[in-house]
Amino acid sequence: MWKEQRRRKLTSAPFPSVWKRIVETHCPFHKKLPEPDRRELEKHIKVFMVEKKFEGCGGLTITDEIKVCIAAQACLLLLHRDTECYPALQTILVYPSSYFVPTTRHVGSGVFEESHQARAGESWREGVVVLAWDEVCKGATASGQSNVVLHEFAHQLDWEDGRADGAPILGNGESYAMRKTRYETWKRVMEAGYEQLRAKVQSCESDVLRDYGATNPAEFFAVATESFL
Ligand SMILES: [Zn+2]
Repeated sequence: MWKEQRRRKLTSAPFPSVWKRIVETHCPFHKKLPEPDRRELEKHIKVFMVEKKFEGCGGLTITDEIKVCIAAQACLLLLHRDTECYPALQTILVYPSSYFVPTTRHVGSGVFEESHQARAGESWREGVVVLAWDEVCKGATASGQSNVVLHEFAHQLDWEDGRADGAPILGNGESYAMRKTRYETWKRVMEAGYEQLRAKVQSCESDVLRDYGATNPAEFFAVATESFL
C-alpha cells in the first residue's frame, strides 16, 4: 500500500523538464509515439528512476542522461501492459563501452579453453542488468535490428513468471479462460516463428530477425522484441 501511494504521488508529479530534454535528444522514438503513449511512458520512467539503482563500472560516472536514456528504452516494454516495473530488477550496472567477460569453453576430451568475450550487455536473474553505455546510445538512435536495452529488458520480462521460455506474463488480471487462450495463441505463433527463423539460419537465408534469435526460445523473444519495437 505504501508503495502504491508513493507511486501515485510520483506519477502525478510533472515530468521534469531536464529529463524531457534528455529523452528528446537521445531517444528519437519518443516523439513518434502517440501522445497518450508518451504520457504513459513518462509515468513509467518516473517510477523506474526512483526504484532502480544505477552503478557506474569501469570508471563511468552515472548521470541523469545515462539513467533517463536507459529508463526510457526499458519502459517502452511496459506500455499497455498491466504489469509491475520489473519487480525482480534492482540494479543496472553501466560500463562506458563493451566490456570483457572471462569465459571457459569445453572443447572436448576434458580440455577447456579460456578466453575473454566482449559484451554489449547482459541480464541476470538475480536482479541485475549490465549495459555498455555506447551501445545504449547506438540502440536508442538506430533503426536497425539491434537494441541492447530492449534485448536485456525483454529477458527480464520473460523471467517474471520464473521461466526463461520466451513467454512473458500474459493477460494479467483477466479470467483463466482468457489467459489460457492468450498463452495458447502465443505458443502457436512463437513456435512457428522460431522454427521458421531456425530453418532460415540453417540455410543461410536472411530474415528481419537477427540470427541470434535462433539460439533458443528466450533469445527469440528478446531478438523479436528488438525488431518489433
Ligand atoms: Zn539474450
